[in-house]
Amino acid sequence: MLFIVGGREQGKALKEEVESRGVPAWYVELWGNYIVVTPPHARVEGLKTPVKAVVELKTELQLVSREWKRDPTPVWIGDREVREGRIFIIAGPCSVETEEQILKAARFVKNAGADALRGGAYKPRTSPYTFQGLGEAGLELLAKAREETGLPITTELMDPEDMPLVAKYADAIQVGARNMQNFTLLKKLGRAGKPVLLKRGFGNTIEEWLLAAEYIALHGNGDVVLVERGIRTFDKTLRFTLDVGAIAYVKQHTHLPVIGDPSHPAGDRRYVIPLALAILAAGADGIIVEVHPDPDRAWSDAKQQLTFDQFTELVQKARELAKALGRASS
Ligand code: PEP
Ligand code: MN
Repeated sequence: MLFIVGGREQGKALKEEVESRGVPAWYVELWGNYIVVTPPHARVEGLKTPVKAVVELKTELQLVSREWKRDPTPVWIGDREVREGRIFIIAGPCSVETEEQILKAARFVKNAGADALRGGAYKPRTSPYTFQGLGEAGLELLAKAREETGLPITTELMDPEDMPLVAKYADAIQVGARNMQNFTLLKKLGRAGKPVLLKRGFGNTIEEWLLAAEYIALHGNGDVVLVERGIRTFDKTLRFTLDVGAIAYVKQHTHLPVIGDPSHPAGDRRYVIPLALAILAAGADGIIVEVHPDPDRAWSDAKQQLTFDQFTELVQKARELAKALGRASS
């Protein structure tokens, strides 16, 4: 249950009162509300601490559910807002490789209309023998690219121990598909003080994905952007199966922003633009797409990264589509 109270003092008092009845309780300040949260089916009645409203939801999804918070939640990434009604574009290479590469990419995507720069410094690679990312040196190069272009930066955090370091540089922290159910990481991100891009695990249901967002919110961080990036199905023709239905569903059932990644499900740059447009048409609030100055020579995901010309084409088409859908794009 969610108990909405009038302020921090009441919140703390209520949490103590609930816990004194043997029921676990969390106190969070999210989206302008002071909230005491208990497990959905816990029964606590006759409380003395004054409460403004009690929200009883029948499922494990509470904080992130649109059933009680009807208005969409905007999330700021640096000085740019991901929000319903407009299209947010995050673009950049799969991995940060060299200063020249990331600066070239940053300048180009900025001029072409991107809202934020992406680039992995810690890479979750299937084989331990492939490029693993530059680590802190990569974060420094991202910061340099931000300084030069003004674009906020998003990058993946893999190891919970690296959180302070990644949070120091990143404007938004990406949770990779392979870590979506790393609950230690999710809990820690509750205290990151930075927005989180939560990628859907490729073997995870929509409910598991939303529960991962619930973990981050319950531990104190309400700035979560959900990212659909394709799932594993019986069909192996493309790298993953983009689940556009999930985007339509999640937009209606959660108040959090939802964006899509067309690059990883496509696995091949020839299919990225149509998938990106499908993501937006399904109702997503934006895209995160891989773009590289020389994609064939990229150190990771070479086949799927867009050329600069393709990115220009994508932005133009996304803007036309946004207009047709009655949404704004920068
Ligand atoms: C990435 O964004 O480069 C990446 C590794 O994505 P995912 O976690 O979705 O595979
Ligand atoms: Mn990649």
